[in-house]
Amino acid sequence: MSGTCLVPAVRQKVQRFDLSREPHELDAREWSRTKRRDPAEMVGVVMHQWASPVGTEARLRRKYGGEAAALAHRGLGVPYTLVAGVTQKSGEPVAALCHPIERYTFASDNACGHYVAIGVMGIFPFEESGRTAKHTPVTAALAAAVDECLAWVAELLDPVRVDGAPPLSLITHRQAINGPRDHAQCPGEAVVAMACASDWIRQGVFRPMPDAVLVEGVGKPWPASWRAHLPSLDQPLSSQVAPPEHGRPVT
Ligand SMILES: [Zn+2]
Repeated sequence: MSGTCLVPAVRQKVQRFDLSREPHELDAREWSRTKRRDPAEMVGVVMHQWASPVGTEARLRRKYGGEAAALAHRGLGVPYTLVAGVTQKSGEPVAALCHPIERYTFASDNACGHYVAIGVMGIFPFEESGRTAKHTPVTAALAAAVDECLAWVAELLDPVRVDGAPPLSLITHRQAINGPRDHAQCPGEAVVAMACASDWIRQGVFRPMPDAVLVEGVGKPWPASWRAHLPSLDQPLSSQVAPPEHGRPVT
């Protein structure tokens, strides 16, 4: 069990939106037109927060036929490969694949090349002790959306990973930064707690790597508050990648 009870342990069905073949809305500074990533070379996920509340406009809800679809489409304008969020009016959890894995987007500084970025919609304090009214609540719905994104990454990478490959690493933007203060607060304790509460970690598909830093002396390891959410596993982490029966259909 995780060290603290920040994340409600309620399972909820999450709507998936595969938008990876739709035209993205990134500007030229947010992705590379020349570099492509090889899914077989991906080694894990890197967690982010959007650092703002994320809602939808009536115009877009009409255009896409509902609030969940409208929220998912907001992901086409950000460089995270997947996004997780909850609709503000109806409270529905949403997971969206916004870019193909191959698209080299500039989401994660030094982790852009080999980690799949998951961006959690909302604004979260660096540590929960700093939470104020402006911050996004941690709910069962949002945790379910994060869990769904992790499941989706495992499904996407499973077919291209070699037998006996180690678990996928789970790191944070903080660990991959390019400069001393650049995004060192990302994604915040709440996002770490939600990722660590995922069944996919307990099953050994992902392994949290709190001490990894991509560039020595620049990236920062997890603070103690984030580590409090590391699950203590009953069994050693296995080297198995997601068994296919855990796959859920794309809607
Ligand atoms: Zn980030």
